[in-house]
Amino acid sequence: MDILQRLARFLDRPLFPWKKLIIGFSVAQFCFEEFLSLRQYRVLKNTKPPQVLQKEVSKDVYDKSQEYGRAKAKFGFVRALWGQVQNIAFIHFDVLPKLWSWTGTLLRFLPARLSGEISHSIVFVLTFVLIQQALSLPANIYHTFVLEEKFGFNKQTPKLFITDMIKSNLLAFLFAPPILAGFLTIVKKTGTQFVTYLWLFTAVLQVFMITVYPIFILPLFNKLSPLEEGKLKSQTEALAKKLNFPLQELFVIDGSKRSAHSNAYFFGLPWKKHIVIYDTLIEKSSEEEVVAVLAHELGHWSLGHTTKLFGVSQINVFYIFSVFSVFINNASLYADFGFLNEHPIIIGFILFSDALAPMDLIIKLLMNIMSRRFEFQADAFALNLGYKSELASSLIKLQIQNLSTMDADWMYASYHFSHPILSERLKALNWTATEKVAEDKPEKEGVEKASGREL
Ligand code: ZN
Repeated sequence: MDILQRLARFLDRPLFPWKKLIIGFSVAQFCFEEFLSLRQYRVLKNTKPPQVLQKEVSKDVYDKSQEYGRAKAKFGFVRALWGQVQNIAFIHFDVLPKLWSWTGTLLRFLPARLSGEISHSIVFVLTFVLIQQALSLPANIYHTFVLEEKFGFNKQTPKLFITDMIKSNLLAFLFAPPILAGFLTIVKKTGTQFVTYLWLFTAVLQVFMITVYPIFILPLFNKLSPLEEGKLKSQTEALAKKLNFPLQELFVIDGSKRSAHSNAYFFGLPWKKHIVIYDTLIEKSSEEEVVAVLAHELGHWSLGHTTKLFGVSQINVFYIFSVFSVFINNASLYADFGFLNEHPIIIGFILFSDALAPMDLIIKLLMNIMSRRFEFQADAFALNLGYKSELASSLIKLQIQNLSTMDADWMYASYHFSHPILSERLKALNWTATEKVAEDKPEKEGVEKASGREL
């Protein structure tokens, strides 16, 4: 902490070029990520699938998956460039201080007891979120209704797209004010001690969200129904019993409403868990394959991956707040961004997050390395339970249905992928093809990038 404090003092000098530094970080990150994308783009131009998939994947499917990959890469480049332009323009035209003072005038329309920094910060953040959303809307529309549509993957209607957007905004407007108020009150009331309190606050918040999400939020977007009696249910229950998994209930989710991505996951408190299976997974796979997928998922639980990830995210939050506590009073940072007299905490946090961006890059890399290790371990877990060929065939089926990238540049994959690529996973399963497991046809009705944890 001492080093940090010294560093903070060193950096808190009048006329320290914060703006230039932050723009520099942002441009450097953009260049680095585009360099990786360029490397990946070269792989996406290959015309021959990796060895292990050559028996499984026809030329047509492979070509189409490569074309899909290239289309996504080009779109990604345009989106990232647009983000860069926005970011630099925001800084160059002093959008933050202007927006802060403008939202301050909005406060006058509220009752007098809602003046103060906390109300101001809430109005500011909600306005900021709406602006960001409006700016990213064209790209989101293009992605869903042009790119995904072109490859036959989009299942969303404009109506569903709009109602989803309205619902998520309502949720943001419902949850953001109390969370922000709690966050700012803690920083204001506990002074230099705020790190521990803030950290406790976010930990409680996370647990609260894990509990509330499936019960109140998920049903707003999807329908969960109990899994019908049958072979799949009895096999899953037997697996859960064998592993001492505290299975409370088995659900099927109507994931097909938006995409055909197949998935399964579990949620709940440590002593009362629920398993959720996508309707698409049940539709496209045999019962044994679904159980193999669940064996992988329960592997994550049995090996303590969920707990470890929660622990690591706690360490990360603690680290961010500790560094923030040292920089929160950095007057030169505020001044360079046009906040000469006022030092609103929320603005400090936004600027500070930008200044910390290079560290985020490293954290992302480390988290992905860890996550890929966990995936291998969960695959091995399913393998040891005797699901080798079922797991392999379901992985291949999913890959073909989703036209997922079949091969990857190692640098790109190390940085971006939370899951190992299929050929690596099959190799680790020591799986060799005896016969073709999947049909050649990719899933026509479509798939959106999976949300949440994949397999
Ligand atoms: Zn997994």
